[in-house]
Amino acid sequence: MNYHLQSFFKTLPVSLNAVRNHRCFSVQFRTRICLDKTEMEENGLSGGSEVVVADPDKLSNKISAIRAAGSAKLQVIADFDATLTKYWVNGLRGTSSHGLLRQVNPEYDMKRRELYYHYHPLEFSPTIPIEEKTKLMEEWWGKTHALLIEGGVTCDGIKQSVADSTIAFREGVGELLELLEERDIPVLIFSAGLADIIEEVMRQKLHKSFKNVKIVSNRMVFNEKGCLVSFKGKTIHTLNKNEHALEMAAPLHKELGDVDEPTSDNSSVKTRTNVLLLGDHLGDLGMSDGLNYVTRISVGFLNDNVESSLDAYRNAFDVVYLNDAPMSGVVKLVSQLW
Ligand SMILES: [Mg+2]
Repeated sequence: MNYHLQSFFKTLPVSLNAVRNHRCFSVQFRTRICLDKTEMEENGLSGGSEVVVADPDKLSNKISAIRAAGSAKLQVIADFDATLTKYWVNGLRGTSSHGLLRQVNPEYDMKRRELYYHYHPLEFSPTIPIEEKTKLMEEWWGKTHALLIEGGVTCDGIKQSVADSTIAFREGVGELLELLEERDIPVLIFSAGLADIIEEVMRQKLHKSFKNVKIVSNRMVFNEKGCLVSFKGKTIHTLNKNEHALEMAAPLHKELGDVDEPTSDNSSVKTRTNVLLLGDHLGDLGMSDGLNYVTRISVGFLNDNVESSLDAYRNAFDVVYLNDAPMSGVVKLVSQLW
């Protein structure tokens, strides 16, 4: 194991050194998970942050490869809801970019909430096959967007909804984005939420804009009175982000009007062949599918259903943070990449 990875491990909270040996892991860790679940039930808060690295040597090799290629070859692809944002906020389930929105007709907020109660458990069910789950997600997003148009959404309503919401970034997200901005490393935020709301959340909660951050998500179309009338393009839900994210990134840069040289920026997405991917859902791993990446480090946030989903997350992601961990571990990981 190289020096940088050893250094990274030293910075990891609590029990990584104890769990690196799988035999120790299965016994000691299961106990800890039970404690965390109990804590959550009692006070709605996650316990301490913990992390699992299934193959430390593989991670070490990836860190070395990315360092050797240099930061000019690196880009970050991140999910938004429950990845950059917290799963729990002040003891309550943090709202998503969809969930925080308050409509002109409040009856429609309830209608969308009813859809959430029905579909959300299905989204994270470990037993539903992926094809079936994808159809269920299409159904959910289609119904939700139709309700948003029918029940009314305004530009001013979005600003007020964000101001009133319990959405919050994980501690360290601002630091992470600043670190990446200093190095001119692009960050693509791919989300099945709502681009207009994510942008407003970043404005209000981070109090600054980042020139290296682009958002690819469902984008609203407003009329001259500032009322939602439709959505642009194909619906992006949690399980099809991989099909559309990169292809949608290029025209989006132009739309946002905040890229000086869209041609070189778009090409940089393709030529930056090393990726740090951040997600909270197994489907988030597909966000880099459109890219011919050379080296990818994938970081998963396993916020809930830890016991039933841990095996799948550990096998899929290079690094798994448990129980709504802060972003500080990722900040330390990123600092090892150059
Ligand atoms: Mg998410």
